[in-house]
Amino acid sequence: MSDVRLDVLAIGTLAANRFWNETGPAREEFSTVTLVRSGETVLVVDPGWPQEVLLAVLYYRAGLKPEAVTDVFLTHVDTAHLRGIGLFSKARWLAYEEEILYAKTELVADSALGPVIKKLSAAPEKIAPGLDIFPTPGHSPGHASLLVYTALETTVVAGDAALTRDYLEHGDLGSTLYDRDKAEDSFREVLEIGDFVVPGHDNIVWLRSTPGMV
Ligand SMILES: [Zn+2]
Repeated sequence: MSDVRLDVLAIGTLAANRFWNETGPAREEFSTVTLVRSGETVLVVDPGWPQEVLLAVLYYRAGLKPEAVTDVFLTHVDTAHLRGIGLFSKARWLAYEEEILYAKTELVADSALGPVIKKLSAAPEKIAPGLDIFPTPGHSPGHASLLVYTALETTVVAGDAALTRDYLEHGDLGSTLYDRDKAEDSFREVLEIGDFVVPGHDNIVWLRSTPGMV
């Protein structure tokens, strides 16, 4: 039995969802928040919901208090993906090195993002057994996904490399891309690697069965 476990804590939403016939912002945007546990590591990916929501879902979905969280990983630096990160003030705040470099150059002047960017450390390639960083650039220059391996399956916590189930099924990468070519490559890799994908703004999506399983 693998001791790696993934739970979706809160399901995200887009401000404007093309597949819901929305052409402009209809609501506030929030990321999907994922909890991943491996050994002593208790990791939250993209804590985009407000702190009070994160406090509740962490307790109601996993029975945990914020102090139990050892690490936070940001797929990229975007308010919709980190709004509640202050709840985890004792944890290590991680992002891919290239994303931190980009954020320190381009985003650090933003009053909401600046203090977060200054606290970010470069994520190691392997955060814990079964938890690997996987660069998926395109949506932002240093966007990265988290690969979660259990004995039976690989789940890609993909951030905005895949926005929602509809966007994923239609191969739609969204309109706010830093580099479309890289985003297309990243999207293909996510589909190749993942048995499951956690999109940046939707519930977990099953892509295919593991060979040998019914
Ligand atoms: Zn997003």
